[in-house]
Amino acid sequence: MHILVCVKQVPDTKIIKVDPKTNTLDRRGVPAILNPYDTHAVEEAVRLRARYGGKVSVLSMGPPQAVVAIKKCVEIGADEGYLISDRAFAGADTLATSYALSRAIYRIMKVEPIDLIICGKMAIDGDTGQVGPGIARRLDIPPLTGIKKVVEINKEKRRIIVHRKLEDGYEVLESSIPCLLTVEKEINEVSYSPLPNMIRAARYKPVVWTVDDLEDVDRSQLGLKGSPTIVGKMFTPPKPQGGKRLEGTADQQVEQLVNALLKEKRELFVQGGR
Ligand SMILES: Cc1cc2nc3c(=O)[nH]c(=O)nc-3n(C[C@H](O)[C@H](O)[C@H](O)COP(=O)(O)OP(=O)(O)OC[C@H]3O[C@@H](n4cnc5c(N)ncnc54)[C@H](O)[C@@H]3O)c2cc1C
Repeated sequence: MHILVCVKQVPDTKIIKVDPKTNTLDRRGVPAILNPYDTHAVEEAVRLRARYGGKVSVLSMGPPQAVVAIKKCVEIGADEGYLISDRAFAGADTLATSYALSRAIYRIMKVEPIDLIICGKMAIDGDTGQVGPGIARRLDIPPLTGIKKVVEINKEKRRIIVHRKLEDGYEVLESSIPCLLTVEKEINEVSYSPLPNMIRAARYKPVVWTVDDLEDVDRSQLGLKGSPTIVGKMFTPPKPQGGKRLEGTADQQVEQLVNALLKEKRELFVQGGR
């Protein structure tokens, strides 16, 4: 089994702020981390390798510093890492990102066929959850999104059974492989990396490709040129106002609550009538 995990290096959004003057992300001094969903995706690939044998590769598109995210994956247990990095990829939206990644996947597949691709459910900075399904569409393989458990892979019959998270439970899906999974964080608990993995990661040098290393690339579909998305505005949502504390007995509190709701409804009704 050759499992490929797509991973993205992201700014730590717990720290990042929006500059109120320019309405752009203020990334100064913000550490870059491996997208948390992708950490679980790599962990799952490593666990599947332990069950079914084979190899785990990871692929990222990003600036040269994204090598650090790939090394983190090696720490978790990945065998190989590929980074595609080139000015031609800069400014890519999800359409251009999935195109570039799919071209790199074709290149990897020429050397070694891929049985399963795993992506995170979403990246914590872009938050769209579009890249995984975008790659699957371009490779013409089934996308199985929001996966919280891999039940079984039958290598001989080329089938996989997974649990897909729903709002009120889960559904059991069966698909052919190769296919692409996007995974929820609850799919596993990321284990501590053993020392040999950490030593290997520290010395590891991923394969780095530029656009010239990829074959049959339509450059008009890359980077800003290949990105139809326009970000119209960015802003910080207003902070929620503190609530009002209700006092008195339970009956008195219910009365206060009903009065407050009726008052709010009346105000909305009056505004709507104007
Ligand atoms: C006009 C425009 C310009 C932009 N310019 C830039 C830019 O210059 N630099 C920049 O970093 N972002 C840029 N972005 C943001 C970029 O489009 C998204 O971050 C990127 O396409 C991934 O989308 P997402 O973050 O929503 O990922 P999601 O679709 O939410 O990610 C889901 C999963 O897909 C995989 N994945 C996503 N991105 C990558 C990746 N790069 N490599 C490997 N796997 C990945 C991961 O497994 C991830 O968990 C730009 C966006 C727009 C609209």
